Amino acid sequence: MTSHASVTAVTLPADLGPDDVVLLGWPVAHSRSPAMHAAAAAHLALSLRYRALAVAPEELDAVVDALGAAGIRGANVTVPHKRAVVGHCDVLTDEARLVGAVNTLTWERSGEGVVLEGHNTDAIGLAAALAEDVVALAGVPVLLVGAGGAARAAAVALARTGARVTVTGRDPQACAGVLDVVRAVDASGTSAVGVVDLLEDAALRAAIEAATVVINATSVGLRGDHLPDPLESLQAHQAAYDLVYGIDTPFLAAARDAGAAAHDGLGMLVHQAAASFARWTGVPAPVAVMRDAAQR
Ligand code: NDP
Repeated sequence: MTSHASVTAVTLPADLGPDDVVLLGWPVAHSRSPAMHAAAAAHLALSLRYRALAVAPEELDAVVDALGAAGIRGANVTVPHKRAVVGHCDVLTDEARLVGAVNTLTWERSGEGVVLEGHNTDAIGLAAALAEDVVALAGVPVLLVGAGGAARAAAVALARTGARVTVTGRDPQACAGVLDVVRAVDASGTSAVGVVDLLEDAALRAAIEAATVVINATSVGLRGDHLPDPLESLQAHQAAYDLVYGIDTPFLAAARDAGAAAHDGLGMLVHQAAASFARWTGVPAPVAVMRDAAQR
């Protein structure tokens, strides 16, 4: 293997070309994306090849430049690069601008040169997953936990359904920013309900009681860690949705034990991948094939 990028410590595969798509993350070894995209490409007999690249934050700029120079088709971007890569894009789609983060890159080549476009498929992915797992959300009170990139994507998806969204997190200012995303999407002004401090026990309990659906968009639970107690006391008529996937988080386990519906983030993962795949290939993704690969 030789490197396309002498300025970076990352050794890029020597054979990168127009059939290639890569995943940029740190770490990436655990990712299910290569399996999903390989299965989809094989199913449709497309030549697309998808590989994961572990890229440290300080290497991101040089790697993105080198990938553009290598002539690849596109990339996915995951933790911790989704916000950092925004500044590197020549153009952003409306969706990426709304979410404030990019998870899908496409290098558009024409006679006039190369344009790097940043897009985001997380909100589309969550909306599709919610439509499969939860009944209609119009007018339904939803408590959204978290204020990072995934929460902002969830805010876009929820506002589009007409859900009534309350945001909770440990940083009220960041939560207010998420509520602003809801306002930006929902022209009617009815979706954005308010912000509740995650660390204020009584206010949190009241917000949970008022919610029909509670969505965890934090990384809490990934390592078996717990959200504040009230979030582990949902009741049977409520639904819990955790964007973390592949792990039975304490939040989901407690909801299921109480008889509540409990869904992890696998559906969102599959649908965001399907939307990225369609963008790079121009053909609809085989969602069931990708889901099967992600589950395996
Ligand atoms: P970010 O790092 O952008 O945000 C993490 C959020 O979690 C922040 O709001 C942070 O709050 C909060 N948080 C972290 N630790 C705690 C804690 N101990 N108590 C309360 N809040 C906490 O990450 P993302 O938003 O990108 O991702 C969040 C989760 O969503 C991850 O687990 C990720 O894997 C998952 N995800 C799943 C997807 C899917 O397809 N299923 C897609 C995208 C993400 P603070 O700012 O105060 O630190």
